[in-house]
Amino acid sequence: MDTILTGMRPTGALHVGHYVGVIRNMVALQKSGAECYFFLADWHAYNALIDNVDVITKSRYEYVKGWIAAGLDPKISPIYRQSDIPEVLMLNQIFQCLTPPGWADRSPSWKDFINNPNASRLLDNVGFFAYPILQAADIAIVKGKRVPVGADQVAHIELAREIVRKFNRQYKANLPEPEALLTTFPKLPGTDGGTKMSSSIGNVISLNETEKSLQKKVNKMKTDDQRGGVEQPGNPDNCTVYDFHKAFSPSNEVSLINESCRAAGLSCGECKMKLGGNMKDILMPIAERFNQISDSDVNDILSDGARKAKVRTHATWEEIKSLTKF
Ligand code: SF4
Repeated sequence: MDTILTGMRPTGALHVGHYVGVIRNMVALQKSGAECYFFLADWHAYNALIDNVDVITKSRYEYVKGWIAAGLDPKISPIYRQSDIPEVLMLNQIFQCLTPPGWADRSPSWKDFINNPNASRLLDNVGFFAYPILQAADIAIVKGKRVPVGADQVAHIELAREIVRKFNRQYKANLPEPEALLTTFPKLPGTDGGTKMSSSIGNVISLNETEKSLQKKVNKMKTDDQRGGVEQPGNPDNCTVYDFHKAFSPSNEVSLINESCRAAGLSCGECKMKLGGNMKDILMPIAERFNQISDSDVNDILSDGARKAKVRTHATWEEIKSLTKF
């Protein structure tokens, strides 16, 4: 059975954008019966937050609570912190020595960074430049085969495959060559209609909102600003509320909202009430479970997850040591 590896960088508050974009998919993969490893990519977060590591520590708790509350079962799959697994960094060192700088230079994330004058200067470091190599080590140390990624991340997995292939050739090894498990990760805008949901912008809906705070945030969402009033047709394609309907409402209701809005048969107020109701149905049970998980529970889950993951990573490392004779 192919092993699937998924990680998230704990870089700030967890929100419904993460839930829709990544966490729902993690839960579905686990439910499919696949062998999964889920990890907090805290070394990857460190590249961007070297001056603010408290954020990583704090968000560690939030992420694990969110994963479990959304349905991940730590008894079925290891849930662990990347930094609890020393073999990841040891294999990263070997992979770095096998990777020509030109390969890392092809990383789309690095290219985006150097071509974007507004990108955070904190990313101007070799750790970020070489992060696809660390990603290759994350995958190979658990003998991961498939990695769920969006189209924009496929190049990173191809680089990981080239590195693993080179390692296999050099040492006559048989590590699985990683493949992208091409996945659609729906992207939710911020509640203000901005392209990114971000706690620093203040346009997020958390996974543990109360009913009241959730509806309040929905009521403040941006609607089609060209719509003159309730008696005029609106354009759902220009409306943040509609984007959220697509993520949280049943498909027949989404179609109906689209038609009614265009026919001026639905006020924005009613539309927001419907959205709030549908979001509550999904999010309130998650919020309830989230609030029942303590920080100490998270510590236990992560130490148990590291113990389970180490069974695999230690065995892989022993093989690597014997092959490399190092
Ligand atoms: S009716 Fe709904 S979809 Fe149409 S503009 Fe208003 S909030 Fe948006």
